[in-house]
Amino acid sequence: MKKLLPLVILFVFFGSSAQDIYLHCGKLIDTKNGKVLSEKTIVVSGNKITSIEDGYINAKSPEDRVIDLKNKTVLPGLTDMHVHIEGETSRDGYLKPFILNDADVAFNAAEIAKRTLMAGFTTVRDLGGSGVNVSLRNAINSGKTVGPRIYTAEKALGTTGGHADPTNGRKKELMGDPGPAEGVVNGVDDAAKAVRQRYKNGADWIKITATGGVLSVAKSGKNPQFTEAEIKAIVDTAKDYDMQVAAHAHGDEGMQRAVRAGVKTIEHGTLMSNETMELMKKHNAFLVPTISAGRFVSDQAKIENYYPVIIVPKALEIGPKIQDMFASAYKKGVPIVFGTDAGVFPHGQNAKEFGYMVEAGMPAMEAIQSATIIPAKILMAEDEIGQLEPGFMADIIAVDEDPTKNIKTLENVVFVMKNGVIVKE
Ligand SMILES: [Zn+2]
Repeated sequence: MKKLLPLVILFVFFGSSAQDIYLHCGKLIDTKNGKVLSEKTIVVSGNKITSIEDGYINAKSPEDRVIDLKNKTVLPGLTDMHVHIEGETSRDGYLKPFILNDADVAFNAAEIAKRTLMAGFTTVRDLGGSGVNVSLRNAINSGKTVGPRIYTAEKALGTTGGHADPTNGRKKELMGDPGPAEGVVNGVDDAAKAVRQRYKNGADWIKITATGGVLSVAKSGKNPQFTEAEIKAIVDTAKDYDMQVAAHAHGDEGMQRAVRAGVKTIEHGTLMSNETMELMKKHNAFLVPTISAGRFVSDQAKIENYYPVIIVPKALEIGPKIQDMFASAYKKGVPIVFGTDAGVFPHGQNAKEFGYMVEAGMPAMEAIQSATIIPAKILMAEDEIGQLEPGFMADIIAVDEDPTKNIKTLENVVFVMKNGVIVKE
């Protein structure tokens, strides 16, 4: 051992300093304290941040790399808590389930994942697809393809004829009678089985459609679609498997049932009443606003034949209301976490949401925190992501301007590092 010790010290010394990356940051956003700091050096070793120093520190070894971000603002990689990584809006969207094989979906999803990462989103929560999302997460984690960290709900859960019933709007022969395996539940036994099936399939989260939705081929965009007992069974079963529940909801009654039953996030929240806002605060349930999706669907609905006829009035009614609801929810102190519903609009434009949030009255720094330190807590990764601190994962992005002065600069991310690897420079 005595002979080995100097060798170990030598290895630690040179081993850790070799190929370190020094980021010289003109400005750096401290998401924990909500401050913009100046002239810092972030030292990255492997996949982690090892230190943050005052001023611009020189590299210690000739193998180290120095990256000049002196005229940029540097911040932690962003998190979008509501995306659909498998696909994207298009005029023929409703034809896709009949013409695409899983392999087609997978290649599309891999491209979308890359685009999302290049836009500065180093983490996403995927709230529903076919199961390709699980394979994509695994492929990214094992380095086979490039993309953000993915927390996925696999297939969303709905009730018969509900927003997540995969055979809505089809002719009877093609409707069949989907059940828990397909994510369709009726009753508390089905609810538990559907959650266990998601666990078996590799989901990280559970997503339910607590009310009608805009883009499903069905009449109502807001009716309650689960009983409270069904949602409670879903939340309780999910807890057994260390999973939390996200609930899509436009209508107020379905939203209240979901919050009372213990879901962690309410997606959209369009027609949220004052009473429900108070309930959200009481239960520490977070609103995921998706203002971008609301604006996009109401714009597209004005284009003839973009959506099926049954969808148009829902998109025109529900879409424009989200931003106003967000403004009053923010004023009332409802917990808010950043999420866009990317896929309903083109992926890679996720950061437009920041502008809409600021426009509705949220200060820029709080909007940035809602996409960094806050989602990290909800994803139970608060010691890994969402901050630039020693010991955290090296998920780091940079933009040209200070986003607390011009929030739109986040729409043009110029540098992206994920897991210590530079993917955009
Ligand atoms: Zn969605």
